[in-house]
Amino acid sequence: MRRLLVTFDVEEVDWGRPAAGSGWEPCRPSAEGLAAILPMLARLGLHTTLFCTSSFARAHPDLLRDAADRGHEIASHGLDHRDDYGAMAPAAAAGRLRDSRLELEHLTGSVVRGLRTPRLALFAATAVGEAGFSYDASPHPTWIRHGLRGLRTPRVPWPEAGIVRVPLSATPGLRLPAGWYVLRTLGAAPAALLARRAGAGAPWVHLYFHPWEAVELRRWLGAHPLGWGTGPAWVASLERLLEILASRFPPTTVSAAVDAWRMGRTGSI
Ligand SMILES: [Zn+2]
Repeated sequence: MRRLLVTFDVEEVDWGRPAAGSGWEPCRPSAEGLAAILPMLARLGLHTTLFCTSSFARAHPDLLRDAADRGHEIASHGLDHRDDYGAMAPAAAAGRLRDSRLELEHLTGSVVRGLRTPRLALFAATAVGEAGFSYDASPHPTWIRHGLRGLRTPRVPWPEAGIVRVPLSATPGLRLPAGWYVLRTLGAAPAALLARRAGAGAPWVHLYFHPWEAVELRRWLGAHPLGWGTGPAWVASLERLLEILASRFPPTTVSAAVDAWRMGRTGSI
């Protein structure tokens, strides 16, 4: 049965120009947003995967421990959101990512098995494995951001050098993404239709969002386009979307889905 993988990139906001004297702190939007989202996820009985930067975990370890206690998986979104792992030598990237994993484990008390790089940068599976991860949830099989390379990316998971690559969902054919900006642009019902289409032929519907979308970013960042449509109405819209999808596809964490997928292929995880 196809599963629903709801994931969040929990990060410092490293774009926009915050107004002077606005009380801006880069981790604050994600912290306030996560605090707003967790009760909604509990109402829906949904366990998600949180890809967290170490920078965020250092600033708000209690929030992530609370999320882990509620059954959410803690995974890595790198050491710092400004890191460009795709541009680093594989050994350097593996070193920084290993540090991020160990620091997240130390700060949250969770075993960290998964990685999603900032801005979905892709690099050698051997380096992902060397850093101690068992899966990489960065592949984005759509033309947006990755162009032709994205179009050549498989829509279904694949094993590579001892890890599993877990692509985000995109529709067959036109390769339209089905995640965060789609919800904000189209609303819950059309986003749900697109997400169902994007999951066709794959073992799961795999979507990502950001906790900073749950807070009104305009109060800090003015008219920045990424701040458009953020705030409490977005949380309500996300709840509607997740309610629709969870009624069709049983939700689970990425880690549990990867184990089930491996078990189905090989009989062992
Ligand atoms: Zn990110």
